[in-house]
Amino acid sequence: MLIARTIDELQEAKKALSGSIGFVPTMGALHHGHLSLIRQARDENEHLIVSIFVNPTQFLEGEDLDAYPRKDEADIKICELAKVDILFMPSVETMYEKDELCIGAPAVCGYVLEGKMRPGHFDGMLQIVMKLLNLSAASNAYFGKKDAQQLALIIQMVKNYFMDVNIIPCEIVRDDRGLALSSRNVYLKGDENERALCLSHSLKRATKLVMSGTLNVEKIKKEMHTVLQDVDSIEYIAIVDRDFKRLEEVEVGNTIILLAAWVGKPRLIDNLWI
Ligand code: AMP
Repeated sequence: MLIARTIDELQEAKKALSGSIGFVPTMGALHHGHLSLIRQARDENEHLIVSIFVNPTQFLEGEDLDAYPRKDEADIKICELAKVDILFMPSVETMYEKDELCIGAPAVCGYVLEGKMRPGHFDGMLQIVMKLLNLSAASNAYFGKKDAQQLALIIQMVKNYFMDVNIIPCEIVRDDRGLALSSRNVYLKGDENERALCLSHSLKRATKLVMSGTLNVEKIKKEMHTVLQDVDSIEYIAIVDRDFKRLEEVEVGNTIILLAAWVGKPRLIDNLWI
């Protein structure tokens, strides 16, 4: 595995690749969620590039940029074992100039739910994903459904900017109790680990309701609220179609149920595709 830290090193390393390139962008502190994307990309492509970059432009003032978990040594080992060809680990200075052209997230999907709670987050996310997709020259790029709104915006960016890459959505990986894996789960302390489980429990309750024929969005949200009693605060529960437009009734095959809640220090998100 080659580790590239500059653009020149990345371009030089890429010269040795011929054939399809799979690409998995991450912010590091790799867990089994990342690993499932990496494995899928390894299986489906001749070559595999992974990036680790904690992107400052997608963190808001007061968010956890400085405290974000960094585990470079362990991450390098994981990527080696996963047979990554090139691991791209650039510095902030490598990725950004001082006064840059920016990409703006679209008015609807970019500014509801996560975009409303974290205004500007998606602008920064799209900016770095555009850069990384261009640099990797990937045939296929892999993103988790865990960040459903991010995934929808990346698909829209690729379409709107006629970018030549397939975006491959990947299933959410959970621990054996149902908690969606996240680098921020390391912030959970003591009983917060147990309390965090009610996010996935509320999504399970929603699934049961839909399976028993309850499609009314308000009824489902009310039930989810009752299951979510162990979190410290709920930021949102939303039931939207795949374009992130609000629904009154669940449309099977075209619905995502999303939630964000605080449990101790971390703000957790989870979702379910129906
Ligand atoms: P991050 O390092 O948090 O920016 O995540 C990098 C990629 O891994 C994104 O496409 C995420 O959606 C994806 N990812 C993170 N957690 C999970 C998970 N539990 N299951 C599947 N994909 C995930």
